[in-house]
Amino acid sequence: MKNKSYISTVIANWKMHNDFNAALDLVIKIFSYSNMAKNVEKIICPPVVNIIPLYDQFKNSTFSLGAQNINENNEGSYTGEISVNMLKNYITHAIIGHSERREIFNESNYTISLKAKALLSNKIVPVICVGEPLEIYKKNRSVEFINNQLFEILSKIQTNSQILIAYEPIWSIGNKNPADPVYVEKIITKSKDFLSTIRPIRNVNHKFLYGGSVNSKNVLDYTKQQNIDGVLVGSASLDASEFGKIVLQISNNG
Ligand code: PEP
Repeated sequence: MKNKSYISTVIANWKMHNDFNAALDLVIKIFSYSNMAKNVEKIICPPVVNIIPLYDQFKNSTFSLGAQNINENNEGSYTGEISVNMLKNYITHAIIGHSERREIFNESNYTISLKAKALLSNKIVPVICVGEPLEIYKKNRSVEFINNQLFEILSKIQTNSQILIAYEPIWSIGNKNPADPVYVEKIITKSKDFLSTIRPIRNVNHKFLYGGSVNSKNVLDYTKQQNIDGVLVGSASLDASEFGKIVLQISNNG
């Protein structure tokens, strides 16, 4: 049983889905299903163009807005990019280091570390994604791989602010192959132990979420584990009723 003061976190990553009308419609439906779940921290990360237009909807809700990525620089000649400064009045969180950004846009741990610093210095909570590819998982080298990601991203960061870490094994993403909850618990427990050895951030308030094919049928298998502090949801967050069920299950069952 988890401690009573404990609040789980659910993050929706909509990726590159939903124009403004579809986003507004989805937000209204999601709120109608699960806005009353005050005992769950809920963050929706729509495509960046929808963040400011949706802001007023979120102001009177129990949900927060997050970004799916940010640029690590404050301003400058970075065509097509968005800085933390431009979003900081609208968002509370930003996902960084998602495996799609690492794989498709070649983001390195070093860049992700700079993004984390930029967010923390603007008082936005970074949601740092880590996770191993299939070949590393098969070789039983996941812990070593994730520890290296955590070390390269976090060892040069000085902060007292909260950070979130999303463990997303790459092979589990895409709504088809959820990782075994006991395996996830083992990895997250080891990662938490490792985090406590990274000197500058070892006392930082942190949560570890799991992401990878989470849905309303399997969510509690993860959140009932002692060290899994919430979930990051991709595909299932695009369906208001399914996402609402995920939130309500956590709200009702811990
Ligand atoms: C993700 O891409 O972050 C994710 C968790 O996706 P899905 O839930 O679709 O596996």
